[in-house]
Amino acid sequence: MILFFFCAGEPAYGDYWKKERGTHFIVWYSSDESPVWARSVLRAAETYYRRIAKNINYSRFRNFWTWDERVNIVIYQNKETFLNNTKQPAWSKGGAYRDESLFKTKMIVTYKQEQNFLDGVLPHEISHLILGDFIGWDKSIPRWFNEGVAQLQESRKTRIVRPFMKKMIARNAHWPLRILMQTEVRDLEGTDEVALFYAQSLSIIDFLISRFGSNKFGELCVMLKRGYDFETALTKVYLFDFKTAEDLEKKWLRYMKN
Ligand SMILES: [Zn+2]
Repeated sequence: MILFFFCAGEPAYGDYWKKERGTHFIVWYSSDESPVWARSVLRAAETYYRRIAKNINYSRFRNFWTWDERVNIVIYQNKETFLNNTKQPAWSKGGAYRDESLFKTKMIVTYKQEQNFLDGVLPHEISHLILGDFIGWDKSIPRWFNEGVAQLQESRKTRIVRPFMKKMIARNAHWPLRILMQTEVRDLEGTDEVALFYAQSLSIIDFLISRFGSNKFGELCVMLKRGYDFETALTKVYLFDFKTAEDLEKKWLRYMKN
């Protein structure tokens, strides 16, 4: 999940919050929680930060990619407080934001979840921020693309999604790529639709990286950074493989049917 909007740069402070500071992140957490737990979140965030940049080959382009401000990770105590304060859709588990004011504060907002937080939500939201910093916050990164990249880092997601998408494709229940590319996930209503949107987005990004490698994928991101739309960026980088977005769709389908 990712949203960009104008928000106050920092959470409403007061007695509710305690914080732990790291090199790239500050964890804000309820004063009822233990600092040991908050420090484990911080350590995980720092590890993901390094791993994500490397996995998607962003570290190669470090000369024009700078991550120069610390990110606030704000963890509400429970889902209810999180939804009340963020107005996210009910299915949301977290969001990544960049404040558009002078200070350009980056924030990950979520709530304490026993399951799927450290190895799911956290790397997912950090990926959104890294992608935003790398491609540029002024560029419109396609939503499916952004969500596909973010899910790559969720530890078990790719393995789970692969058989699911194979089944959907066998039933011809997947979406045409053109539709996926135009879909705004916030407008989807059914949970099945939301699940398919996320799964198919991940499956296509996973195909691009597994089949053609991280180097090419990094180049694709550079083209998006230069302001090309997705299809133009795709055909420039994967010159001999895709002449149009339909070619990507056809080859992804063939790959998934094998
Ligand atoms: Zn997301």
